[in-house]
Amino acid sequence: MILPGKTIGVLGGGQLGRMFAQAAQTMGYRVQVFEPAGPCPAGGVANKEVNASYEDVAALTAFGRECAVVTYEFENIPSGALEAIAPFVALHPRAEVLHTTQNRQREKAWLRANGFPHARYAEALDGDIAAAVAETGLPCVVKTADFGYDGKGQMKLGTGEDVERAGAIFRGRRCVVERWVEFALEISVIVARSTTGETKTFPVAENIHTRHILDFSIVPARVSAGVAAEAERLATAIAEKIGVVGLLAVEMFVTAAGEVIVNELAPRPHNSGHWSLDGCETSQFEQHVRAVCGLPLGSVAVREPTVMVNILGDAWFAGEGAAVAGVSGEPREPNWAAVWREPHAKLHLYGKAEPRRARKMGHFTVRAADVATALAQARELKAKL
Ligand code: AMP
Repeated sequence: MILPGKTIGVLGGGQLGRMFAQAAQTMGYRVQVFEPAGPCPAGGVANKEVNASYEDVAALTAFGRECAVVTYEFENIPSGALEAIAPFVALHPRAEVLHTTQNRQREKAWLRANGFPHARYAEALDGDIAAAVAETGLPCVVKTADFGYDGKGQMKLGTGEDVERAGAIFRGRRCVVERWVEFALEISVIVARSTTGETKTFPVAENIHTRHILDFSIVPARVSAGVAAEAERLATAIAEKIGVVGLLAVEMFVTAAGEVIVNELAPRPHNSGHWSLDGCETSQFEQHVRAVCGLPLGSVAVREPTVMVNILGDAWFAGEGAAVAGVSGEPREPNWAAVWREPHAKLHLYGKAEPRRARKMGHFTVRAADVATALAQARELKAKL
């Protein structure tokens, strides 16, 4: 067990690292952050920030030697960086977990090999999209294997013409082509697994995306008890099979027939778990600390139905409508007072100086006695920002 007073190292310095650091410090740990491009959101609160490249083995080694345990908050860390640290400090989740989940091809192959439900897919090694589409059928979606997130590097294909265009666009890139799933809704389950092997799943979150970016997370998800149980069972089985220590977020589709299909895995805190900061007995960040330090995992009981709303940089550009229309102008401070005035709402900002469109700047949560009320209030507040 790693006790308070020790230092936890975090690779990656974004908002996830920041909220992790805040939770760890509240619990009595010291936190240091490794981030190539400083100053970073997590560095603003950590005990120490190191700015060096992930290729800089000497800097990584020095960083790791000061820590009792190292974890990460970012998926696109080169495997070499983790391999440089792993020999002399506890690293959770272990390097192989990140290696599998940071690449869509390896992740899908792992799901297939281990018998977990996933969308039918085929690999396209050198932009040979047509051959892959022959296996999946249309409609489908092309995703680059590496460095994709929030819908970046993705293209939906519905017609033969789309297939031809995609062939040109993705030439020379490793991709997966996935059958389009006609889902009724999207959900996620965050599971924590401790160094002791103890696991706990956070309640299922229902996720609404807008332009490929998470917009709302709703807890509890509006699914049947059977679907929720199946989603939690799948998430736990995946966490155990892949041997994660820390958090694993499992994004899933639910079809109209109630089938649960795994879309993506992320071995770190997840945007769809931010509701837990206000709506759950234990936040995902505290649970991550508990898991990597080998403490007993905390209660995942829901305090009250909660809706989380992401705040993107778009909110600085004269409101949602203007953002959709692509109207640009001078950024203005959003109307935070609307959220501050609401007794059951909480505003979280990540300390990022420059608001850019599609950049995650913060989020807010709204709690209510039932999901419908919380969601209606959340939509209302979002419109007022
Ligand atoms: P991803 O980056 O894989 O999480 O995809 C971003 C979003 O695109 C998902 O949250 C879905 O809304 C949508 N999407 C991705 N893959 C599929 C699929 N196979 N079928 C339907 N929608 C998808």
